[in-house]
Formats: sequence, C-alpha cells, structure tokens
Amino acid sequence: MRDAVIIGAGVAGIYMLYRLRELGLDTTTLDTAGGPGGTWYWNRYPGARFDSESYSYGYSFSKEILEEWSWSEHFSGQPETLRYLEYVVDKLDLRPHMQFGCQVKSAHFDSSETCWNVEMEDGRREKARFLFTALGILSAATLPRIEGRDDYEGEAFHTYLWPRDHEVELEGRRVAVIGTGATGVQVIQTIAPQVDELVVFQRRPNWCAPLHNAPIDDETQTRIKGSYDQIFGRMAETHGSFLHGADPRSYHDVSEAERLELWEKNYASPGFGVWLANFAEVFLEPEANQAYSKFIADKIRGRVDDPETAEKLIPRDHGFGMQRVPLETKYYEAYNYDHVRLVDASQTPIVRITREGIQTSEEEFEFDLIIYATGFDAFTGSYDRIDIRGVDGKRLAEKWADGPISYLGTHIAGFPNMFMLAGPQSASAASNFPPSIEVGVDWAARFVEFMQSKGITRVEASDAAEGAWTKDIMAAYEGTYFAKAKSWFSGYNSNVDGHDKLRHVMFLGGAPAYRARLTEVADAGYEGFELE
Ligand code: NAP
Repeated sequence: MRDAVIIGAGVAGIYMLYRLRELGLDTTTLDTAGGPGGTWYWNRYPGARFDSESYSYGYSFSKEILEEWSWSEHFSGQPETLRYLEYVVDKLDLRPHMQFGCQVKSAHFDSSETCWNVEMEDGRREKARFLFTALGILSAATLPRIEGRDDYEGEAFHTYLWPRDHEVELEGRRVAVIGTGATGVQVIQTIAPQVDELVVFQRRPNWCAPLHNAPIDDETQTRIKGSYDQIFGRMAETHGSFLHGADPRSYHDVSEAERLELWEKNYASPGFGVWLANFAEVFLEPEANQAYSKFIADKIRGRVDDPETAEKLIPRDHGFGMQRVPLETKYYEAYNYDHVRLVDASQTPIVRITREGIQTSEEEFEFDLIIYATGFDAFTGSYDRIDIRGVDGKRLAEKWADGPISYLGTHIAGFPNMFMLAGPQSASAASNFPPSIEVGVDWAARFVEFMQSKGITRVEASDAAEGAWTKDIMAAYEGTYFAKAKSWFSGYNSNVDGHDKLRHVMFLGGAPAYRARLTEVADAGYEGFELE
C-alpha cells in the first residue's frame, strides 16, 4: 500500500506531489492527460492565456524556480504556461511519480484497512492511506443541450478538448462560436481576423474589459525578479490574492470627477484592476454598481461601430463584476469586421444543430467548424465523474446532490483521509488560483506532517464542523449579487440536470480570511476533525 494517491497533475497536483515527496511519502499522481499541466494541458484553443499577471501566477515556494524562469509576457499564453509547468515538474524530478493516460473510474474508502482503493478505466489499481483530489474546478467540460448535436457533419469541438494531434484550419472557413464567457471571448478575438466568416451565438453577454498585455523587456524582467517578495506580499493582502486590491476610498467620499479619474485609469491599465481596484461599494450597492456598469457600457458603445450590435453586447441581467469578468484584447473591435456577426440567442434561440450547421428560430446557417465555448460543470463535475465512496459505501455524488457540503473546502464528513485541493467551498475560485492552491497544499502538508508526528492514521471532518462551515458559506451568499447572477460562480449550468439553481460553491470571505481560518484550525490541534 502506498502512502498517497493524488488525482490530477495540474497546478495543485504538482505542488502537492512535491510536498508529499519532501515529507517522504510514497506517492503517485494519476491523470487522464498525456502529461502534466491540468487546465493548461487541455485548454489549447486559440488565444488561451492568463488574465492574472504571469509573475503572480507562478509558484512562490521556490526561490530557485522564481529566479530561473522568465515569463516573456505580462499575461502568458497557454503554450508558455504549459512549458512552465513541465519545467517545474522536471526541475523537481516529479515525472517518475506520475502516471498519465489513466482515467480514474472509482475511489472507495476501505474502513477495515483505513485506505483508499482507486481503480482506473484501463483496470490499473492503486491503494493508499491518503487520497488527494486535485481535480480542478473547471475541468468537466459541458456541451450545450441542443437537439441534433450529433447530426452535424463538419468539425466541432469544445474548447477544452481542442485537438492536440493536428492544427485546426481556420483560414477560409465559416466558423460558429457558441458561448461568450472568458473562453469564448478569447477565441472570438483571436480567430476573427483569420476566418472567412464568423458567427457568434450569444445567449447572455458578459462585461469585458481590456487586458493590455505586453511583452516583458529585460529591464522589467530584472525588476520583477528583484521584487518577488513585494509581489507575493502584496498578493497576500488582497481579497482575491491578485496584485489588485480595492481602492481604500469610499465611493461616497469622492467627487464624480475623482471616480471617473480612477475608472479611466483602471480601464487603461493592465489586468484585473478594472474589476478589483475599485471602490468596494461598486460591488455592494446598487447605485454605485449601476454607475460603474454605465461607465463600462459607454466604453463598449465607443468601441463597436454598429449601435445595434453594441447594445446586444451590453449585459442587462447583471451588473459589472457579478460574474467573472473576461479580460479581452480587441474583443469588441472583432464585431467591426464585415465577416463577423453576432446572433442574440436570447432573442432568436438556437433550435437545433443540423447536418450543415445551426438553425435558430429565424435562420439557418452553414458552417465548416462549430466551436463550443460552453463552459464547465464547475466545482463538483470533476468529482461527480468519479465514483467516490466513503465510509459504508456512501456515494459522494449522492451527498452532494443539492450542491457541495464540506468542512473548510478541504474535507468531507464520511470521507476520511481524503484531502480536497482547491475544492468546492474553498477560496480558490474566488481568487487567483495558484496562490490559493499553495495555501491549501501547504495546509494539507502541515496536516499530514502533524499526523505523522502523532502517529495518527485516520482523519475525518466531524458532522458538526461540516454543518457549521456549510451554513456559513450559505449565509455569505445571502443578499449578494453573486447569489442572483446565473453563472458558475453561483453553481449554475443550464446544461447539467439540477444545476439551474443557486448552489453554494465558493467561500466568499476572501483569501486572507480563508487562510486565517485554516491556520486557526491547525493551531487549535485541528479542531472540527476526528483524529485516530
Ligand atoms: P462560462 O463562463 O461558463 O461561459 C459559457 C458560455 O457558454 C456562456 O456564455 C453561456 O451562456 C454559454 N452557453 C452555455 N450553454 C449554452 C447553450 N446551451 N446555448 C447557448 N449558449 C450557451 O465558461 P468559460 O468561458 O469556459 O469560462 C469558465 C471560466 O474559466 C472563466 O470564468 C474563468 O474563470 C476560466 N477561464 C480563465 C481564463 C483566463 O485565465 N484567462 C480563460 C478562459 C476561462 P450563458 O451565460 O447564457 O449561460
């Protein structure tokens, strides 16, 4: 029997493997992919890139890696990010402890031996004391439930499953994109200048704002490498572990001219400042939110030539920042090409996919390629796709039928020795992923070390602690804009049964509060856990 199995070789799985190896645990990592990288292995669609600063996305735990690796752009593209993760894996000599091409079918807890039995689709098996789930919260891609999808005879794929074995031809082709989330936006702006014809099917628009990416010159590179302590120090202070934190002033204490000055400055600056370096009231008070939404709507109007198209691109069902804000590069200008057209699928819904293309309530289109940028069964989908069973064969999918329930977003009552990394109800989704992942992994490693030192072999969240945590998570959603917005931030997905309602999937209290809570629990000898 091994000490540990990690499922997932993405940002979380890589770092967890490193920490467990350092603790001397016999560990193997399993992943469906053909190599490490997780989200950056799969998402190879045109234009896939960070929208948090590259140097805020890399691991912070190794000074050597920080010194050796040089990001070439302020917001790195997928190929470079994947190269970075492969470099980290090789640098830390982790590859020998990873198994690829293995789809985990089931993970069952065995109470008699206090271990997890893990079985893969190809029949391989692993048995280990601990199970670490580094499954990702955006790794179960969902296709739209539209009649006739299988009838289509042209090329079609979900962005997450973009082909790895051949270049997808774009030039001279008639292309459809369904979906206008962060992924759709990146695809649309990238392929618009290349294709012959592009039709975007938008059900609900998102509020998008400029990324302002640029290459990193030598002088800036030296400055970045010399200031990592300050960079990570700043990130530790902000609500979302980004470099951008709220403006300390009150919306009400400044004049309209001062508000506009801040908003114009943020709109012209790189990264998430346009979302996060704002007055807190913009996200808490309707009047402030409406004022900022109007400011951004006017920017959209100013960038799109056709006024009717511009109006279609402005969200009406949610205010700015209540769903994930996609950062873009000439996204709105893409609609100024004569060969790019926006179809408002809320007004003229897609009725079916035909053999040749897409039929809406008004029109029939023919395409050579259909790109589904239709998102993910977020948070729980990657868990639901594995038959996970805890004590007495209790199924996790059953326990989570109405949404995730956890203690700290790291453990589940009835599922001993299972550690979730960046799991549902943790702070990871509401923040810059890697720093939050590092917090979760460091905490899990500390927990394992504690168990080793005390001779503890079994750990399980208590029902009471789980109940209290989940109640707090739910209470935090109450009355928020997030609770009302129908996006994956609040657990919605129209393409998954039962996910057409609010599900309490995220810790909304911010990264510093989450980190403090984890530390408090550990310092108190892991209160809320049953230790044997
Ligand atoms: P998403 O935000 O969930 O967007 C899915 C899109 O597909 C939405 O526009 C949705 O419309 C549409 N859709 C789904 N089913 C449909 C149907 N049946 N008919 C018509 N439209 C349909 O997914 P995503 O864009 O893949 O992004 C997910 C998350 O991944 C992002 O929020 C972000 O956190 C992450 N991401 C990050 C980056 C980055 O770092 N730069 C890039 C890409 C993604 P509705 O809104 O009407 O449901």
